[in-house]
Amino acid sequence: MPVTPVLTGRWNTPESWTLAVYESTDGYQALRQALELGPDDIIKIVKDSGLRGRGGAGFPTGMKWSFIPQGDDRPHYLVINADEGEPGTCKDAPLMTADPHSLVEGIIIAAYAVRAHRAFIYLRGELVHCGRRLRAAVAEAYRAGYLGRDILGSGFDLDLVVHSGAGAYICGEETALLDSLEGRRGQPRLRPPFPATHGLYASPTVVNNVETIATVPFVIRRGVEWFRSMGRERSPGPKIYSLSGHVTRPGQYEAPMGTTLAELLELAGGIRGGRRLKAWTPGGSSTPMLTADHLDVPLDFEGVVEAGSLLGTAAIMIMDETVDMLKVVRRLTQFYAHESCGKCTPCREGTTWMVQILSRLERGQGDAEDVDTLVDACDNIFGRAFCALADGATSPIVSGIKFFRDEFVPATPTGATGPTATDRVAGT
Ligand code: NAD
Repeated sequence: MPVTPVLTGRWNTPESWTLAVYESTDGYQALRQALELGPDDIIKIVKDSGLRGRGGAGFPTGMKWSFIPQGDDRPHYLVINADEGEPGTCKDAPLMTADPHSLVEGIIIAAYAVRAHRAFIYLRGELVHCGRRLRAAVAEAYRAGYLGRDILGSGFDLDLVVHSGAGAYICGEETALLDSLEGRRGQPRLRPPFPATHGLYASPTVVNNVETIATVPFVIRRGVEWFRSMGRERSPGPKIYSLSGHVTRPGQYEAPMGTTLAELLELAGGIRGGRRLKAWTPGGSSTPMLTADHLDVPLDFEGVVEAGSLLGTAAIMIMDETVDMLKVVRRLTQFYAHESCGKCTPCREGTTWMVQILSRLERGQGDAEDVDTLVDACDNIFGRAFCALADGATSPIVSGIKFFRDEFVPATPTGATGPTATDRVAGT
């Protein structure tokens, strides 16, 4: 299987985060090329490349950029969603730490394309080390004339601000992120209107993920054909797959879109301790779990859907045969209940309620009816909340019950956690 060190290509170079190393490895050449082209030419290149959003949803990037209305007098904004917070998802943090200039260069090109003169990186608060690297890279870029007024003599101006959030998962939802950036409590807005027309300060705004934007300089520099030579027709290009959990060598594995888990496990040394694979998430905890029957599913936006899940952030959490599925599902549901912003009832009440039922089952005090209630609750929550958080919360439950129902229904009758009072009295 070809491994494609594109986005990860500089990660092992000493001092890879500095401008000097970046420039010595082709850095900021794509920007020079882009500034020779018109903004619309860049949007066309990105559209033709087929690049799709790496934040989880896979929305076509060039199409998103083309939605920015032209000709009205509101300012345009570019906002980078660096609020990586999905359990299992850990690709943007190493990218920003090892190669922050690839993100900065991508931002300048994207801002030029969508005619934005102000861009923000909204960084997850806990990623303090990434903040340091990003701020240092931004300062270097200003000093070198890549940011600020009249960039490289092109007449294009751009200011870039790194803004740290305060550690709320919901602020990774793009409209909650925008609320937070505006100084309010981060809670999702109803969409439509989408940020493309009414985003930051009710102005046209492109919100893109870190990995998506860091891919842009490569697309510009190496071209559409090169990009499309990797991956699959509708999901082209390279992708960072994050392997965590019970795997011999956890970490980031960059490979063409459509690579299978079987192939990734070969690179990562297989399941830890020679055990058997039990379950895995294709793209973080909000994507339905799959099993050992899905090792050959092509991990791209279409392939995973056909298998009954979603690619999401390609954050593959590996669980071996020793894992207690009920415990996993209860723990993940607790995460969603804790992170629910409380704005809408299905999510606020539903996630809390589901934790209660799962905890009861875990204590051995539930019954088969509780399992049906969980599925019913998920059916009633899915698609009925303000944002994708609640949908995501249903994924571990529904997929856990689908594949491992036996582990949810206690073997003993309702309420029986061991010997009953009658047993004791009878001396059994
Ligand atoms: P979505 O499909 O609703 O939207 C995706 C993007 O396309 C958004 O930027 C949206 O504004 C844009 N868009 C969609 N339709 C549009 C239209 N008609 N006009 C203009 N723009 C349009 O998905 P979402 O709710 O934004 O995100 C859900 C995804 O987030 C999930 O797939 C999940 O995997 C992912 N996620 C990622 C993390 C993380 O840490 N990276 C955390 C939680 C969830």
